Amino acid sequence: MLAAIIMSSDDAIISKTLDGIITSWNPAAERLFGYDAKEAIGQHITLIIPDDRLNEEKFIIRQIASGKKVDHFETLRQRKNGQLVPISLTISPVLNSKGKVIGASKIARDISARQQADEKQARLAAIVDTSDDTILSKTLNGIITSWNKAAVRMFGFSEAEAIGRHISLIIPEERIDEEDFIIGEIRKGNKVAHFQTIRQRKDGSLVPISLSVSPIIDKNGNIIGASKIARDISGEQELYRKLKEINAKKDEFIALASHELKTPLTSINGYLQLLEQRISDKKSKDFVQKMRHQVTRLTELVDDILDVSKIEAGKLKLHKAEFDILKVVKNTIDLIANANPGHQLALHTSVKFCNLKGDEHRIEQLLINLLTNAIRYSPDSNKVEIFVSTEQDDVKIGVKDFGLGISQEKLPNIFSRFYRVDDSDTSVSGLGIGLYLCYEIVTRHHGMIWAESKPGFGSTFWFTLPIKDS
Ligand code: ADP
Repeated sequence: MLAAIIMSSDDAIISKTLDGIITSWNPAAERLFGYDAKEAIGQHITLIIPDDRLNEEKFIIRQIASGKKVDHFETLRQRKNGQLVPISLTISPVLNSKGKVIGASKIARDISARQQADEKQARLAAIVDTSDDTILSKTLNGIITSWNKAAVRMFGFSEAEAIGRHISLIIPEERIDEEDFIIGEIRKGNKVAHFQTIRQRKDGSLVPISLSVSPIIDKNGNIIGASKIARDISGEQELYRKLKEINAKKDEFIALASHELKTPLTSINGYLQLLEQRISDKKSKDFVQKMRHQVTRLTELVDDILDVSKIEAGKLKLHKAEFDILKVVKNTIDLIANANPGHQLALHTSVKFCNLKGDEHRIEQLLINLLTNAIRYSPDSNKVEIFVSTEQDDVKIGVKDFGLGISQEKLPNIFSRFYRVDDSDTSVSGLGIGLYLCYEIVTRHHGMIWAESKPGFGSTFWFTLPIKDS
């Protein structure tokens, strides 16, 4: 039975005399060293010992002769083809019936796979260790199992202080719940990516971090823990804070500048009005009227810019009151039609009146913007259609033109601040503010605004407003 065990062993099992002569050689030894039993038995053990390790044999034999075992001795041996193989050796004395040492049995295990794994492990460990990002791992119960140098730098706890402790070591008390959420995701096999949060250092100070957590999966596919990579984002946050500050300064400047521009404009307009009354010469009067028209345009532009800066500062106030939207639509159409005598603006509706609560002045501004755009962006058409209908709790209004249209990929952007469709053939000037204001006005009234368009055929801008103020 013992012989059968030796024959079928995966480990090489060899015996030799105290003089080093090989006396037995199992099939695993044949596989490991490349010599078959016939070749090996009777030869000296140096057959498989590389020249530079011959001293080991002397040491081993000395141990054995004094009746001692050599356990898990890791070394190199040489195959028949000259190749070296890393092995782990366990050598025991063989005793005769009188208890005298007469030889040695060797069990040799090929550890090349393990060594490769060890090397890979060492390489990974070196990468983790030198990483600038904090990398740590923990069990599913939250017990810290690894802690790299960057973690030491970030949190101030040494490796010895952190490993074995619960991860709450670095979680501020009011954020303890986050851990349940993260572990919940990990248990499901999910990753948590770029989770921005705050952790606590050993000295109690807080550090803003971006956290990515992944499940650690063992050979059998079981989730056995989590690895975390954390990056200190205090620098980014500082940059963001500075950017916001600069942006706020810019908005403040625009607000101030447009406010300052309005005073002289109002004054110019006043004097032009006086001048218009005083002159009788038809030609001069005509000039003054043209000047007043341009001053009005300029005032409108300055007002729009002022509105944008109010929105940005959260200071655009709505003055809501009940009014008839249909009346506003009709009046605005008349206003625009008078200013654009060459155009036909046709209203299609079966609604007689429709009261709702909102800022009448702002909604008029919204309609003016949509109607003037419909005219400005239709160089080859003089028709605009306006639709008003009620649908459930909303009134729905549409402004349809037969002009340039807007391509599908540009459509989603047109309500953004300062956005203009930069198709080179449009000679229409503007600041890209009008639709942004429309969007703000509609959404501040809890309505929706959108556009449908086909380049070359025209666009329809739709918006809804709730009839009952929510
Ligand atoms: P502005 O007209 O001052 O450029 P808007 O915010 O009113 O700014 O419009 C943004 C952009 O959307 C315009 O530059 C234009 O390219 C496009 N646009 C708006 N209305 C229409 C329309 N009715 N037809 C075609 N393009 C339009």
